[in-house]
Amino acid sequence: MSIWSTLRGHNDQREMFRRAVQRGRLSQSYLFVGPDGIGKQLFARLLAHGLLCRAEDGDRLEACCECSSCRPFMAGNHPDFLYVERNEGKRELQIELIAGPKERRGQEGLCHDLSLRPLEGSRKIAIINDADTMNDESANAFLKTLEEPPERAMLILIASNLDAVMPTIRSRCQLVRFAPLSRSDVETLLVEQGMVATDLEAQFAGALCEGSLTTARQLLRPELRDLRSSLYSNLSRDFSGTIVAKALLEAIDAISADTPEQRVHAHWVLRFTVEFYRAALRHQAFETDAAVIPEAKSWLAALEKRMEPTELVGSLIDRTIEASTHIEQNVPVPLTLESLFSDLARMSRPADTRRT
Ligand SMILES: [Zn+2]
Repeated sequence: MSIWSTLRGHNDQREMFRRAVQRGRLSQSYLFVGPDGIGKQLFARLLAHGLLCRAEDGDRLEACCECSSCRPFMAGNHPDFLYVERNEGKRELQIELIAGPKERRGQEGLCHDLSLRPLEGSRKIAIINDADTMNDESANAFLKTLEEPPERAMLILIASNLDAVMPTIRSRCQLVRFAPLSRSDVETLLVEQGMVATDLEAQFAGALCEGSLTTARQLLRPELRDLRSSLYSNLSRDFSGTIVAKALLEAIDAISADTPEQRVHAHWVLRFTVEFYRAALRHQAFETDAAVIPEAKSWLAALEKRMEPTELVGSLIDRTIEASTHIEQNVPVPLTLESLFSDLARMSRPADTRRT
């Protein structure tokens, strides 16, 4: 079995590397860029594994998983494979990891280790994750290695935000862009990794996560699931905008440590709301059970008794998207939600019973 069978998507990138290896045209420095949670790091590790394997021919990018290089690689202690990432809770990739601690600057750390000759095979490979979080000091320390990489070294930098990578670093690497995963790939991975109990949950997270497994994982957190299900049950009936907004705010506050987090969670509420109405539209258009949200289906059935719903649902979606831009423009979350849900409640009510 191929070591690459664990990876979903990114076939073009794989083909690009296969050809480069075949022609002996591997670059010494790569910069992998793409959203979080799509498999960039896994790709880099598989590439390193394949390149370090001693049994395989150079042009296959495969690994035997048995040789004297594969065994330590798989055990996580290959002497010629180096990996650094930002420490948990830190905002920046620390210089100590790149250039060693202050008192031993240049005598330890990634750049130093990379300069030693390979112990096991013919090359050394380093993965520098979170390369977009290097500060000036780290970047400068790293730049020397990047400008003149040790002869048999290969560097793979990984970043989710290309704009945050120092131009001096960026210009010295071959850029490889990675696209978000397809919806079906996300759904398959969620099921394979046991992160969902039902296909319906996988479909829900797959539809909302924008091709990122990291986002899908966040979405599946119990507190967000609870928030979502109480929101859906409110939206499916005649509701008071003030009461719903208040309940949502309390729930958001309970799971948010600070204002930025409050905004992230408010964003999710708005995404859930849009998804609710879109599911209703889908259901109306196809009249199938394709709608992943049962509450949206029952809401639509009630609505259809008194009007043709398409136009109204379109307006509800537009109003919710408008609220998302307000959050982005830093309008306070309470104000945004109160005004949004009051509008949604008023708009959804039959004309003769509308009240403010
Ligand atoms: Zn091997």
